Amino acid sequence: MLVLVGVAAILTFLLAPRVFPAVAGTGDARWPQGVVNVYDASGMTDTMITAAQRWTDSGANVTIRIVRSDENADVIVRTDDKRLRELCGGDCLGYSTSIGRPSDGTGEIIMRENLGGDPRPLSVWVAAHELGHVLGLHHRDGHDCSVMSPRAFDTRCAPSLAATRPTLSELACVPAPADVDVAAGLYGGAAATRDPRCR
Ligand SMILES: [Zn+2]
Repeated sequence: MLVLVGVAAILTFLLAPRVFPAVAGTGDARWPQGVVNVYDASGMTDTMITAAQRWTDSGANVTIRIVRSDENADVIVRTDDKRLRELCGGDCLGYSTSIGRPSDGTGEIIMRENLGGDPRPLSVWVAAHELGHVLGLHHRDGHDCSVMSPRAFDTRCAPSLAATRPTLSELACVPAPADVDVAAGLYGGAAATRDPRCR
């Protein structure tokens, strides 16, 4: 228990991206037709595919595709712990360089190196959180179930620390209906489920 608490304390922070096209007049930060092409250069391809599929199947009119080449990618996923530490501190698990579509250039997601390997509940949760930022979602404060909680273990539906591939049940609230509502507000659609576990 103490060990778990210690691990949780080390792994909890997911800080807000600091690069945000929030200046008035920068235009629409939504992705055309809700389609985002993501190239994984981190080696966490299965994790990114799992998280992308959760959003694509969420009921919001979004499609996140993990593509095979960086040539036409909108967003590139990388690991770089040194850069991650500089961008958002030593406790940070992931970082997105923009909220919504960047006004120019390719977006980046930086994932913590120790989230690599086969998908597990925490790594998929972090990937879904960063993809939420890519879609245009901001953090959701408070303890209500949300994959956009700024701290992975502050939310009522916090990810399991299991080292095994996530079960469907473990991903039931990734994203949570409240998150899908925000995405549907941007792109249309409606939450496909209102799972009572995701309150
Ligand atoms: Zn975040």
